[in-house]
Amino acid sequence: MVDSQGDAARDGASANPRVLHVAIPTPLRRLFDYRPVGPAPAQGWQPGLRVKVPFGRRQLVGIVVGASDESDWPLDQLKPIAAHLDDAPLPEDWQWLCRFTARYYQHSLGDTLHHALPGPLRQGRPLEARTRERWELATTLDSAQSRLARAPRQRELIALVAQHRQGVVTSAITAQGFTRAQLQALLDKQLVTRTEEPVTAGEPWQAPLTAEPSLSLNREQSTALAALHEGLDRFHPCLLHGVTGSGKTEVYLQLIEGVLGHGRQALVLVPEIGLTPQTLARFRKRFRVPVVALHSGLTDLERLDAWEAARSGRAPIVIGTRSAIFTPLARPGVIIVDEEHDGSFKQQDGLRYHARDLAIARAHHESIPILLGSATPSLESLAQARSGRYRHLRLTQRASRHAPAKLELVDLRGRLRQGGLIPPVIDAIRQALAAEGQVLVFINRRGFAPTLGCHECGWIAECRHCDSRMTLHRHPPRLVCHHCEHQAPQPDACPACGSADLRPLGAGTERTEETLSTLFPDTPVYRIDRDSTRRKEAFDALLTDIRRGTPSLLVGTQMLAKGHHLPHVTLVVVVNADAGLYASDFRALEQSAQLLIQVAGRAGRAERPGRVLVQTLHPDDPNLRLLADSGYDALAYQLLEERRLAALPPFRHLALARFEAASESDANDAAGAAGEVMRAWLVERELPVHCLGPVPAPMERRQNRYHIQLMLSGERRSALHEASAWLAGWLESNATRKVRWSLDIDPMTL
Ligand code: ADP
Ligand code: ZN
Ligand code: ZN
Repeated sequence: MVDSQGDAARDGASANPRVLHVAIPTPLRRLFDYRPVGPAPAQGWQPGLRVKVPFGRRQLVGIVVGASDESDWPLDQLKPIAAHLDDAPLPEDWQWLCRFTARYYQHSLGDTLHHALPGPLRQGRPLEARTRERWELATTLDSAQSRLARAPRQRELIALVAQHRQGVVTSAITAQGFTRAQLQALLDKQLVTRTEEPVTAGEPWQAPLTAEPSLSLNREQSTALAALHEGLDRFHPCLLHGVTGSGKTEVYLQLIEGVLGHGRQALVLVPEIGLTPQTLARFRKRFRVPVVALHSGLTDLERLDAWEAARSGRAPIVIGTRSAIFTPLARPGVIIVDEEHDGSFKQQDGLRYHARDLAIARAHHESIPILLGSATPSLESLAQARSGRYRHLRLTQRASRHAPAKLELVDLRGRLRQGGLIPPVIDAIRQALAAEGQVLVFINRRGFAPTLGCHECGWIAECRHCDSRMTLHRHPPRLVCHHCEHQAPQPDACPACGSADLRPLGAGTERTEETLSTLFPDTPVYRIDRDSTRRKEAFDALLTDIRRGTPSLLVGTQMLAKGHHLPHVTLVVVVNADAGLYASDFRALEQSAQLLIQVAGRAGRAERPGRVLVQTLHPDDPNLRLLADSGYDALAYQLLEERRLAALPPFRHLALARFEAASESDANDAAGAAGEVMRAWLVERELPVHCLGPVPAPMERRQNRYHIQLMLSGERRSALHEASAWLAGWLESNATRKVRWSLDIDPMTL
């Protein structure tokens, strides 16, 4: 039998099964049984075939997970499938990854499979044929060319075809700038012949692989690369822990070259913010072979193309964001996760997976090496490296002449601020500009000011729908809630006391931009945040301007602070480092340290050294001091100790059940009831798992919905897994309309 997550006893599927167990895109964590009808697919009723099935009043695309002669339903009551869509199943390893994901994250398998497919395949479009066309000259070149006297382009094309004795495939011709239509024209004139042939898993691409010479590596880079080359033929997890600018990317490039040399493919995952035209250009410049990118800007068809190129083995290098982890590879050779600590690898709704963690599982299953790279590794990966489960490769030197700049803490207390900046910092900016440098001012808040307040009575602009404040924007003037997008006009007078003395509180990017424009009227000021760069072209144009290197001021959120290579920045200013220091979330400190180091890493990337000024109200905070004086690693190891003492990840495993309802008491009651049965079950089973809560979520009310949560925590992953699987089952069978629930395995925030 096949269980709800598709873990089948996979033998016993007869050639003519009476029942197909099908995963359907619904949130229900179970399979649905159908009768196979019609001619069997060429390769039999195998797991991984897409089928069209009636479901309620609709037809859906499902995926066969197993076939047998048994069902929990009377066989004569099973509905027949409407059609099978494929003759050959989806790739085995891809199916495995989906089953693993569904099981690990307690998610519906049908939903997971759909999530992992490009849109057109989800909608039932046929898989790419596993055949291709080959074109050969049908006559002599001379006679062909004389017949093409008035079609110069076709003459060039026929000359190209004639060069290939064994004929030439379509893709090789389109790669030279010709179109298939031009080939068709030659075929219509009977100057070429066309044959179809099966495609085996792509052909190994041919040397030379690279288009430009690799850099000669420094000693640390060579040591790292040699270690990586040792483990090319097995599961070999490595952490490449190298300071910003230490040449990690160069190590990736040379590792990939080695992998391609063995005829295998490389999958590179990068953070959402990191898949910039710059990153792609760097890969494309290095390699002669195609580099396929998977990102949110693609159309459905482009995505399908990329997916098929990876599946067929045509694409040697695939670069993508989070969801690219579900790209099948014909000949997997390595997975690289760049900036592995980045939060964007975790999907925060629906299927709440972590692409880095799935990458590890996938590499293990496919017996290939995996490389996690970061200047500021997650505590999870650091702990694995320290215990020896991951190989710890370090790069401590920058490739350029200058070591990463130290963080200089600047005391904000009692100082007058202008646009968030105090006079000594403004002076430092003036000096950097005078020395022909660029200055990056980092402020993690878009808008004009974090909120608006009344100086008379203390009223503060709060969102009507959320437990949060409204952000003041200037262009155009309005209040906006960054949590629910609710907007309100900026009031002229205080709604509470009528006073006209309303003041912006604190600074956002717009305000700092305004201040800097006033202070430095002759210097261009570029603001880079989600509001100023809604259009991609606008962003690219800004970056082009900035790379010209004229002295200028860059005011930006983390959009600018991560990922971009800004060679002319000599001074980085962090407007306020304090947000993460005292936040309640257990990862807040780790994340703000990572961000600070990434931001600081923008300074002094090229010829000139850099300086980093960090404004803070807590210059004596021991964590901030440790980060500034001893660097990220020192702080990270200390935070690891604290996590151990507090029994938090990575020393404990967590799962979070979230309950959400329009009424607070409904959400509370549901969470309370679940907590009670969960605790009773844990006691009965004597499982070493704690169940805490219910407690309100950090922002309890969001868009007028109340959020209550329940936490499971366990030292053993297997015990936690058992408990969360049981809870998911209970929640599913006790669901009500009023309360929505979700389960988050390895949550990023509590
Ligand atoms: P990281 O990925 O660690 O931030 P990069 O790979 O982007 O670092 O390297 C930073 C800069 O140093 C780049 O301009 C890169 O071309 C250069 N670089 C890297 N390795 C070398 C090397 N071995 N020799 C010379 N320059 C290098
Ligand atoms: Zn007031
Ligand atoms: Zn709101």
